[in-house]
Formats: sequence, C-alpha cells, structure tokens
Amino acid sequence: MSVFENPAFDDHERVLFCRDPDVGLEAIIAIHSTALGPAAGGTRQWSYASSDEALYDVLRLSQGMSYKNAMAGLRFGGGKAVIIKGPGFTASDELYESFGTFVDSLNGDYITAEDVGMTPQIMQSIARSTKFVTGLPAAEGRAGGDPSPKTAFGIYCGIRSAVEFKLGRVDFDGLRVAVQGVGNVGYHLCRLLHDSGASLMVADIDEDKVARAADEFGAQAAGLDEILFADVDVFAPCALGAVLDSDSIPRINAAIVAGGANNQLAEPEDGKRLADAGILYAPDYVINGGGIINVACEYYGDVDDDGVTELVARIGPRLTGIFEEAADKGLPTNEIADAQARRRIEAGG
Ligand code: NAD
Repeated sequence: MSVFENPAFDDHERVLFCRDPDVGLEAIIAIHSTALGPAAGGTRQWSYASSDEALYDVLRLSQGMSYKNAMAGLRFGGGKAVIIKGPGFTASDELYESFGTFVDSLNGDYITAEDVGMTPQIMQSIARSTKFVTGLPAAEGRAGGDPSPKTAFGIYCGIRSAVEFKLGRVDFDGLRVAVQGVGNVGYHLCRLLHDSGASLMVADIDEDKVARAADEFGAQAAGLDEILFADVDVFAPCALGAVLDSDSIPRINAAIVAGGANNQLAEPEDGKRLADAGILYAPDYVINGGGIINVACEYYGDVDDDGVTELVARIGPRLTGIFEEAADKGLPTNEIADAQARRRIEAGG
C-alpha cells in the first residue's frame, strides 16, 4: 500500500522512511504539520505485523500530535516516529545513533521524545547524533526528564474540572475513581487523587503494581474487566487505547471518563455514544497533554519546573471550556475538541 492510499494519510507534509541495514534499523518518521512550529512527538519502538501497519500507526499518531500540541497551546506542530522491531532488529547504541542521524537530517522540522518502548537511556543514545531530541534527564528544578508525573498532574486538573462541571462539587472527599493501569501515569495519578481524599479502585495486568497502589494508597483491587464497569464517579483509563466502544459504553457506570491513555475512543462515533449515555468524556489528547507541555518547556528551555506545572494546570480550564461549548451546542466533547484543534492549526498556518 502506498502512503497516499493509507487510510490514516491526512495530507501529511512529509514521511521519511529510514533504513540502515548495517545496524538493522527500519523506522518511519511522519511529519503531519509544521503550521504551529516544528513537528514534535515521541518515537514508538514496537513489533508491527507488517510495515503497512507501522505506516498506519505513525500517520495516525502524528496527526494526533498536531491536535494535541495545538490544544496544549504549544509552538509545536505534529510528528511521530516508529522504530520497527522486525526480524533483523537488535537494540544497540549504534542503531539509536543511526536513527538520530535520520532525525537530524530533517534539520529540526521533527523533534523526537519518548513513547512506548523507549527509555531515557535510549534518548541519550539518539542525542549523540542529533540535538532535536527531548526526554533527557533534567537537572533539579529544570524542565525535562520523565514526563509522566506532569501528565498525571494534568489529568488530575482535568478530573477536577469534570467533577465540578458534571457533579457540581469542588472537593474530592470520598470521590470514587477507578484507574485502569497503574504504570507511570496511573501511579502518579493515584497518588494525587489519594492525597486529595478520593477513594480508589485499580486494575493492572501487573499484580505487583496493583499491590503497590493498594499498599500506598489503600486502593481496592479490581479485575481487568470489572474496572471498566465499576460503580464509581470517574473512570480513568491509563493503560490502553480503544477501551471505549459500542460494546463497553452501554455498560459503563461512571458519570465521567477522564484518563491518560491515548486514543481511548475505538472510533470517533464513540464520543457521541458517551454523550448519549449521559457520560462526560474528557477528550484524551487534551487531558493528557501535560507530558508534551513538559517536553516543549525542556526543548525551548524558557520555563523552569514550576512554570511547567502552571502551564499544565491550564488543562483544567481548557477542558471546562470544551464541556461548556459541547453543552451549549449539544455536541460530543470530542467533536468540540477536534474542531478547536483544527481552528488553531489553520490560524497558525
Ligand atoms: P506504562 O506502560 O508505564 O503503564 C501502563 C500500565 O497499564 C502498565 O502498568 C500495564 O501493565 C498496564 N496495562 C496494560 N494492559 C492493561 C489492561 N488490559 N488492563 C489493565 N492494565 C493494563 O505507560 P504510561 O506511560 O503510564 O502510559 C499510560 C497511557 O498513557 C498510555 O496509553 C500512554 O500512551 C498514555 N500517555 C502517557 C504519557 C506519559 O507521559 N507517560 C503521556 C500521554 C499519554
């Protein structure tokens, strides 16, 4: 399948196919838009069933980054990269350095960051051959490093706005929240919620992580299927994408869905299904923008860690604006967010 026929192709500005047989590298970098600034988005390292599947993923994810960066108010366009873990793949410093050379060849039109399968150490290997890389360890008080605590803080602020809008309350005392996935983001989110008096239910395929949340935050353990349909105020998906679909939505008992996972809706129509069911949905790429705000501040180096926290806190009022516009127009929140993102990109271009 060619790029132009790919269902995820959305007039992307540039797609770079990267191959270095000497080190076993196969990667794709997609630049969706540079209308608002250099295209920024993480590199995902993943085993794809085929290169078509990898292309689809990188095209779709890079478009999502355009929307996410626009809604986070950043001077960033949208881009993404995938490193394909195929039969010839062996992780090595040389492979990541070679990938960095391809990133560098784009002269700053693409800035990479961490995504699934990457670590700060790998980002350091990439940084040997390009300066267009973020997610590197940061000095105390500086912006940078692991973005997940900032992502979690943004989700926490978003949940606060959703709770006020939907339930008419400003405190978290006894608020019942079900967190699906207590990895990097979910764990930090649980800490913030617990410290504010919320009562937690958690599920994860990793039992040690569930035990940690139970020990540290008094969280109740739930089954992997049970968590989605728990009788709670807020369901916070912080694991996988596509958990909200025509099958799951009618069985959700929460009044609010607000969590960090990317691509929570299996298809855009699921936003309407949630609205019709009376469930307030916080669009994923708006509520989980804290990590990319951290990345932007690291890259531009113009804001310290406290400044990042202030910028991330704005996710709360931004979501309130989306909830209000959705209510006024009688439209699903995801459609309002998409329209706002497109307007911002067009205005910047
Ligand atoms: P992570 O890998 O640290 O955590 C994900 C957790 O989900 C893991 O503990 C995993 O065991 C668990 N999990 C996987 N399948 C599950 C299932 N079926 N049921 C329950 N738990 C399951 O990843 P993360 O960095 O915490 O990211 C979580 C989500 O948030 C991802 O969708 C990611 O794309 C998104 N996100 C992360 C960031 C960030 O800053 N890390 C930023 C924006 C979006």
